[in-house]
Amino acid sequence: MRRLFFVLSVLTCLLLCGCADNNTEEYSKTIFAMDTVMDLKIYSSNGDDVLTQAENEIKRIENLLDRGNENSEIYKINQNKSDVVSEETATVITNALSVSKETGGAFDITIAPIIDLWGFYGNNFRVPSDTELQAALENVGYEKVQLDGSNISIPDNTLIDLGGIGKGYTSDMLAKLLRENDITSAIISLGGNVQTIGKKPDGSLWTVGVADPRDTSKHIGKLKISDKAVVTSGGYQRYFERDGVTYHHIINPDTGKSAESGLASVTIISESGTRADGLSTALFVMGLEKSIELWRRSNDFDAIFVDDNGKMFITEGIKDNFESANNYEIIKK
Ligand code: ADP
Ligand code: MG
Repeated sequence: MRRLFFVLSVLTCLLLCGCADNNTEEYSKTIFAMDTVMDLKIYSSNGDDVLTQAENEIKRIENLLDRGNENSEIYKINQNKSDVVSEETATVITNALSVSKETGGAFDITIAPIIDLWGFYGNNFRVPSDTELQAALENVGYEKVQLDGSNISIPDNTLIDLGGIGKGYTSDMLAKLLRENDITSAIISLGGNVQTIGKKPDGSLWTVGVADPRDTSKHIGKLKISDKAVVTSGGYQRYFERDGVTYHHIINPDTGKSAESGLASVTIISESGTRADGLSTALFVMGLEKSIELWRRSNDFDAIFVDDNGKMFITEGIKDNFESANNYEIIKK
């Protein structure tokens, strides 16, 4: 009797699962927000409502964190220099500051005055003089940000910009929203910040391509993953040229100039999109050797590095999930 009950339960379960699968359809949406193109793809029996909620969530976070939006909390901090912020904003800033500490300041949310001098914010590109950069660097330094609960203060000429971590945070919040809505299969790309939820509807892993920094129409490798964020930072993503010199948007906070660490791109694979976003920017600034040291001390991310000569390095945690036609070196703990 007990065995019959067991067999019936299994059959019922199979039938239910089968039905759910048959009713699952692909729902997708493309949204322009945070100065980038966002693609959301979810598999569900009724995805339209969830996609609308996701779009609202993106807009909500943009209104909270975009320093260019007069109503955002970051705009107000930059204006007032001392303010009381929401718990959410305080948490994002806390996470950003912890990446700064961990990376010896390679990631720095007070880099904003330097970004402005180069015109990367608003795409009014120019090459600032060394004197201008040195003066602006006086106001840069993550340790200048005083955060005590919800009370935040920054010195008079300091500015905060969460551009290096905001999309990662947004992808975490979208993943949370989708899971709360019982979505078990989804992939979202926020301007190249990829976040996967569960596996593909057929139960196989998602494939995420890693762009070739020298020719971004091509992939230099492919990752097979589930429930992870994959975030790439590269000098090729935003740059301008003057007099034959290329200047890109990832700044070394020590010099105020485009980071020249010998790396062309860094891809971080982590459960947290926020962390992956912050670390991808920081490790790009730090260069290969220091990044490997940091990876060896940590246990919650993996990385793919492409250097300026096109040589590839991957950390061993992803060795069974990475494919490439090119040679690559596996970095061990
Ligand atoms: P993107 O946002 O273009 O995908 P990143 O995540 O690497 O790329 O972030 C780069 C953005 O972060 C820049 O456009 C700039 O606003 C900001 N930024 C640049 N250098 C740094 C840095 N060293 N630390 C923190 N943020 C930075
Ligand atoms: Mg980043």
